Formats: sequence, C-alpha cells, structure tokens
Amino acid sequence: MLCKQFGSSDVKISAISFGAMRWPDEQTCHEIINRGLDLGLNYVDTSTGYVQGESEKWTGRAVKDRRDEIYFSSKSHFAKAPTADAVRQAIDGSLKATGLDYFDFYQLWGLGTVETVEAAMAKGGTVEGVRKAQAEGLIRIGLGFTFHGPGEAFRAAVDTGEMLCATVSYNLMNRKEEENIAYAAEHGVGIVIMNPLAGGVLALAGNEQLDFLRGGGVGPCYGALRFLHANPGITTGIVGFRAVEEVDQAVASLQGAEDLDESFRRQLIEKIDAVKLIEGDFCTGCGYCKECPNDVNPSKFMQAMRDFVLYGVNEDRLADWIHSKYPHSDVVKELGQCTECGECETKCPQKLSIVEQIRRGKAVLAGK
Ligand code: SF4
Ligand code: SF4
Repeated sequence: MLCKQFGSSDVKISAISFGAMRWPDEQTCHEIINRGLDLGLNYVDTSTGYVQGESEKWTGRAVKDRRDEIYFSSKSHFAKAPTADAVRQAIDGSLKATGLDYFDFYQLWGLGTVETVEAAMAKGGTVEGVRKAQAEGLIRIGLGFTFHGPGEAFRAAVDTGEMLCATVSYNLMNRKEEENIAYAAEHGVGIVIMNPLAGGVLALAGNEQLDFLRGGGVGPCYGALRFLHANPGITTGIVGFRAVEEVDQAVASLQGAEDLDESFRRQLIEKIDAVKLIEGDFCTGCGYCKECPNDVNPSKFMQAMRDFVLYGVNEDRLADWIHSKYPHSDVVKELGQCTECGECETKCPQKLSIVEQIRRGKAVLAGK
C-alpha cells in the first residue's frame, strides 16, 4: 500500500484508510479492519455519533490487539464541546467507548466560521483542552479539524499554526475544496479526504457513464481513488467500507499509481464534467440528518432521490421508484409525518433542500 507523508509530521499514512461511519455490524467491522491492516491500511477516522453511537466501540475493539499497526483518530463537534473542559470530557468519553488508552489524532469538528476558530483558540477553549490531553499522553501525535464551510474559516484554522491535519469532503464530482487543499499543503497541514467516492456514487457498478473510471478489474472506484492520489496535497482518503471485498477493490485501485500527476487529474475532470451525472450538490448518504423528531428518515429518502437521477429513471416512474426503495414500510405514511420543520436541513453539510424534495415526494406519491 502506498503511504504518504502526513503534512509536516514525520508520520506516513496509507493513501487509502478506514472511514468508520458506515459499518453494517460489529463482525463485519472487525473483518474489514483486519483485512485492511493486513494490506497496509494504517489510519482510521471515527466519531461519537457514527453508526448510531456504536462506531467508536466496534472500531476500538477491532484494533485493540493490533493497536501499534494503526493511527486512530476520533473527534467531537464544537457545538457540543465548545470549551476546554467539555472537550476533555468528550475525549475521556471517546477513549472509554473505544477501550483504548490513547488516540493518535483528535479532530475538532464544526469549526465552520472564523468566529468558531477564534473561540476554539481562546483561553479555556477547545484547543487548550486538547493540548492538555496531549500533554497527559491521551493524544499522541496531534490535533486536526474536520471542515465543511467557507474558505476564510479554513484558512483561519490553518493559520492558527495548531493544526497538523484537516479532514475535508472532496471527490471527482465535488471539487469545491480544491483551493483549501492547496492552502493546507502550502502550510504543512496533512489532508484527509472524506466522501472520496461521493457517498458511493463513484463506485456505482451499473452506471455505464462511469465506465471511463474502471480499470485493473475494478469498478469506477479505480479511477476515483487514483484521482485523489494524483493530488500531492492529499494524504489519504477515508473510505466508508461496508464489506471486506471493498477493501480489496480499493487497494487494487492504487496498484501502480505512484507516478500519477496533474495531467491525469485534468483528463478525469474533463470526462466527469462532460458526463454531467448530476447537477449541483447531491446527497452523500452521510446520515447527519437522520434524527428527525417525527420519525422520518430524510437520509434514506434523499439517497433514493439522488439515485433516481443517477440511474436516469424516467420522471413518470418517480412514484414507483420511491415505493421500490421502501418495500417493507409505508413511505406515504413516513413522509406524511414530516412537518417541514427544517431541522434536518440545518444538519446537512451539502446544504440540500430536503424539505422541498420531501414535498416533491409527497406530491408524486399522492398522484399530483
Ligand atoms: S423537515 Fe423536520 S419533520 Fe421533516 S424530515 Fe426534516 S426534521 Fe423531519
Ligand atoms: S440529505 Fe444531507 S445530511 Fe442527509 S444524508 Fe444526504 S447529505 Fe447527509
């Protein structure tokens, strides 16, 4: 497995690593981690909220006997842990959940404005709390931040000089973070990519429009992962593996990828832009919107609406399509429970118009 220097640190991270937000169950999580470690993957990114709160526990137990083979990173959201004391409680809670004695990295999530960056840096702020935990050996290597927001906030976080790494959403279809990635590279900040396969869209086996990404006996993830690796500013892409064979496919995708360069990236960008798989932002399936006060699952619905576009289904089949995605439940009833409160939209990192899509779904299901 190709390994790359992680920013200005002396650590080398595998070019593909584990994103711990989509584990289907604990057994599979253990199998995926063991297979990946055998193949040289050496970084995992988790958080308190992933997999209905199970991710840290499952991931921690999966790495326990091979702890020295992996760099382990967890995080807390700034809104939930905005002070030094609160972030310390979050770190202690995450360590307890994982059953580990220390993390290698810790990420501050939600530094989305210049003001939050300043608050994190202030006396008694989260950076102070993480540094104290680091001084006590609870975090071995360094601090980073996970980012969805405007470039000025990103640059402000990098300019603090406190950040060893940043985790940003980026892939062949969504390249908005390109300038931020370049800025981080100039300042010795390692970049971790979340959503490297656009929430699975760039791994869709059945979409012929993605054929130009196939290679090495592997599906479209082959080209999508090589695209990331060809950017020297990117250290690793965290893939949200759901099955062991996906690890093998991801590793096979980077075979012989050492010398890929900017011209390779440009070729793929031209091709994906010509395809116009989907216009504008789209659901990545992150699940952040899942907790609806009225028991709707907007994440599931928005993924169904995204796939409707991706597979080019005819508009007059939308009602059938939605029903096909809910074979064992009453989607009319579920969407009918939506009060359009908008809470889910405030949690969506892609800023999608979820309420508008739900309205559209309700209307088409009602035959309007
Ligand atoms: S708008 Fe409110 S009620 Fe409707 S799905 Fe979103 S959170 Fe649930
Ligand atoms: S609608 Fe937004 S928050 Fe919900 S799963 Fe999709 S991208 Fe994530």
